Amino acid sequence: EAKSQGRDGYKVFENTRPGTSVNRLTLLEDMRSGIAKGEFHLKYQPQYDLFTGRIVGAEALARWQHPVLGELMPEQFIPLAEDSGLIVPLGRWVLFEACRQNREWQREGLVPITIGVNVSARQFRDVGLITDVRETLGRTGLAANYLELEVTESLLMQNADQAVRLMDDFRKIGLKLAIDDFGTGFSSLIALKSFPLTRLKIDQSFIRDLETDENDRSIARAIISLGRELGLNVVAEGVETAKQQAFLASCKCETVQGFHFGKPMSADKLGKLLGMSLAPISAQFG
Ligand code: C2E
Ligand code: MG
Ligand code: MG
Ligand code: MG
Repeated sequence: EAKSQGRDGYKVFENTRPGTSVNRLTLLEDMRSGIAKGEFHLKYQPQYDLFTGRIVGAEALARWQHPVLGELMPEQFIPLAEDSGLIVPLGRWVLFEACRQNREWQREGLVPITIGVNVSARQFRDVGLITDVRETLGRTGLAANYLELEVTESLLMQNADQAVRLMDDFRKIGLKLAIDDFGTGFSSLIALKSFPLTRLKIDQSFIRDLETDENDRSIARAIISLGRELGLNVVAEGVETAKQQAFLASCKCETVQGFHFGKPMSADKLGKLLGMSLAPISAQFG
């Protein structure tokens, strides 16, 4: 409510879907110039191997430091970026910055990890994506197997034939491909059958109530064994408690990501964690 009063003419910016045209336009103009001015940055959320306790990857998550509105979260600008097409230049920057940072950690001698980058449908439909990826790897010097693209099943199903071809090309380069928010679409199993995936990320909605909901436990257990049968790495997203961790360990879920292990953090902070990751495993892992 406070936000909807607006500051400096920015009203109801939370609702960036159609309806608040003037403010959408303002925010859109701000985004266009903000990309050029370097107002965006990435936070990195660590992903842990549940059995060794080591960090094996991180997901890059976009943030916008708006000069008037302060730090904006993806839900406040990604939909607008997608609708307007600005997601293409923004996504290109995210891809570059994530790869550059990951390579920098490697140059510092830190244990190499895979960096996950979210890709929207609009970017995926853009014929330039594969060229962008190739150029980014070339310019940053990052090896392709340290980059993972995260896509959703709804994105894949929009133009399945084209998506299969593009994903085959990505796999040929050596990229990893994850299906994000797995289980929330209507075509999860078709997606598993049709696309050359390397990883499946169980949506947080199945993890949240693991302690109380018997159905969620069954679903999570089934997804984990399905992934294992298919030779895919499985990540549980949104792990917030030790009990959820224990349950996932009992199901032999390989990888975990969530506030219980680490919130999205600055590159500096993740670098420090990586520097410690050969030291004895943190307390959470006993
Ligand atoms: P996602 O890809 O599913 O990313 C996971 C989201 O869950 C992140 O929110 C993360 O902060 C949050 N999260 C992680 N662990 C926990 C937990 O234990 N509990 C809870 N409640 N939440 C947790 P965030 O950073 O707000 O991003 C939201 C979504 O915005 C992402 O969902 C992704 O779909 C999209 N997004 C973020 N960055 C980008 C980007 O660079 N490009 C594109 N196309 N989309 C992005
Ligand atoms: Mg993601
Ligand atoms: Mg997700
Ligand atoms: Mg999501």
